[in-house]
Amino acid sequence: MYKKLFYFRLVYIYLKSKMAVKKILLYPNPLLLRASARIDAFDENIANLSSDLIDTMYDADGVGLAAPQIGINKRIFVMDCSREDEKKDCRIVINPQIEHVSEEFSSYKEGCLSIPGITEEISRPKVVKVVYQDLNGVLQRNTYDDLWSTCFQHELDHLNGKLFIDHLRPMKKILVKNKMKKSSKKEKKV
Ligand SMILES: [Zn+2]
Repeated sequence: MYKKLFYFRLVYIYLKSKMAVKKILLYPNPLLLRASARIDAFDENIANLSSDLIDTMYDADGVGLAAPQIGINKRIFVMDCSREDEKKDCRIVINPQIEHVSEEFSSYKEGCLSIPGITEEISRPKVVKVVYQDLNGVLQRNTYDDLWSTCFQHELDHLNGKLFIDHLRPMKKILVKNKMKKSSKKEKKV
């Protein structure tokens, strides 16, 4: 019994070492507030960056993660908005652009891995038609709806140095920022 546990522990440590879970930067880190650079080289570095993003996103139980959130100001994000009863469906999105937005809006209670503990109702276009490049640099066109659309827009904002709290009314934004400052002070004390 003991030997078996020891074996599982070794396997666990091995698997963890294969994963590259990065530290997620927290607001108001300046790297989160900067516009990210376009990607022109579709090489091993970008492939490694995308797998770091995927490992970090799943480890944090997120539905999306953008490169600036792990301190790299490049225009790439990953997202997986599949439901728990569906298969994993991770998309790697490079140099994204929105070509068309619906007139209809939908509202979601959004959160962000870089702004822990805060969720706010944010209204965004319900459907977006988008174009981006995949890991090989090949153009992909897609239409996203509902949560996928919200997530795409939230992650694209990150690449432009914008956070979901920037969509709030000014007074509300000040309240949320103050709450964040207080919680980061608390974290420093611990
Ligand atoms: Zn976010």
